[in-house]
Amino acid sequence: MQVKDLTSVIEEFAPLSLQEDYDNAGLICGHPENEVSSVLLCTDVTEDVVEEAIAGNHNLVISHHPLSIKALKNLVPDNWIKRCFIKAIKNDINIYAAHTNMDAVINGVSGKMADKLELIEREILQPAGKLYTFCFYTPMEEAERVRAALLDAGAGAIGNYSHCSFNTQGSGTFLPGENTHPFCGERGELHTETEIKTEITVPEQLLSSCIRLLNEVHPYEEPVCNIIPLENQNPVTGFGIIGELEQAVNTHEFLQRVKSIFHCGIIRHSPICKPEVKRVAVCGGSGAFLSQKAMQAAADIYISGDFKYHDFFMTENRMILADIGHYESEQYTKEIFYELVTKKISKFAVQFSKINTNPINYL
Ligand SMILES: [Zn+2]
Repeated sequence: MQVKDLTSVIEEFAPLSLQEDYDNAGLICGHPENEVSSVLLCTDVTEDVVEEAIAGNHNLVISHHPLSIKALKNLVPDNWIKRCFIKAIKNDINIYAAHTNMDAVINGVSGKMADKLELIEREILQPAGKLYTFCFYTPMEEAERVRAALLDAGAGAIGNYSHCSFNTQGSGTFLPGENTHPFCGERGELHTETEIKTEITVPEQLLSSCIRLLNEVHPYEEPVCNIIPLENQNPVTGFGIIGELEQAVNTHEFLQRVKSIFHCGIIRHSPICKPEVKRVAVCGGSGAFLSQKAMQAAADIYISGDFKYHDFFMTENRMILADIGHYESEQYTKEIFYELVTKKISKFAVQFSKINTNPINYL
C-alpha cells in the first residue's frame, strides 16, 4: 500500500481543487509512492502527535489542519512546526492534510456535524463551485465507448443519479489537412461523418481530467469539445449545512445535547430568542462568515466556532448563535478519514490519535 493509494480515496471524495487559495491541503511531507503499513488520524499535527506516530509505527499521518500553511524558509528547529517536519522526515513519516477541500463538500466537515446532530433535509448553506456543460462529437460506432469512459470517471453525476448524458445524432464535416492521419475520410477531401453529440454536466473540479480523458479515448486526432459555463450552482459543494431536526426541541435541552455530543467545555451563545429550535445551521471551524446566510435560510440556531463579541449582536434576536469552539466543531472529521481509508486498508491498520490537540482550555 502506497501513500497515494490512500490519499486518492480522500481526494475523490474532496478534490484538492476545491481548497481555498490560501490553503495547503494535500501531501505536506513525504512521497506519494512511500509504503504505508499504518495510519494515524488527527485534527492537528503537533509534536506530540508526531511522537505518537513514531511510537505506534504509523508511517502516514492524516490531519484536518495542514501542519503549515505559510512557506518555511529553513528547517532549523526553532519552532514547533519545523520540529514536527524534522522529526517526521527523520522517522520516514508522511503527513497529509484535507482541509478546506473537506469543508467544501456536502458530506465533509459540516456534514459530519449534521450527522452527529441527526439533521434531515440537508442543503449546502453557501454553494460554491461552478458547473459546466461538456459537449463533444464522436463518430456513431465509437460514441458509446467514449461516452462511457467520461461517465465512468464521474462526469454526469446529478444528485443521487450518475451517468447522466444527452445524445443527439447529426452530421459532422471536416477537411483533413496535409499532415493529418484522419480516423475516417481522406486527406484533402471534405468528409461528412455521422456523429453523436454528447452533452454531460461536469463540476469545475473534474473539468481538466475530463478534457485529458476525452483526448485519450477519442478516436479523432483533434476531438472537438465545447465547454459551456452554467449559471446553475453545484448543490453538493460549498460551505456550511442547513437542515432540520426531526422534531422541534426545547432550546435549552438542545444546547445541552450539543454540549454533550461535541464535548464542549463551554458554549457561548446569543440570547435564547426562540423557546424551541428545529431548523439548524452548522459550519465546522470558523463560521462567522456564514451567519447572514444562516439567517437568510431561516435557521433557528447557527452552530459554529470562533465568533467574535460583535458577531453575537448581528442576529438581532432573529436566530441564536452558538459558538461551540473551533476544535470541538471539527473533531469528528477524523471519522470521515477513517470511513474513506478503510475502504483500502485494513481497519486494524488505522488508528485515531489519542491526543487532544485543542490548544484552548476552559477553566
Ligand atoms: Zn479548522
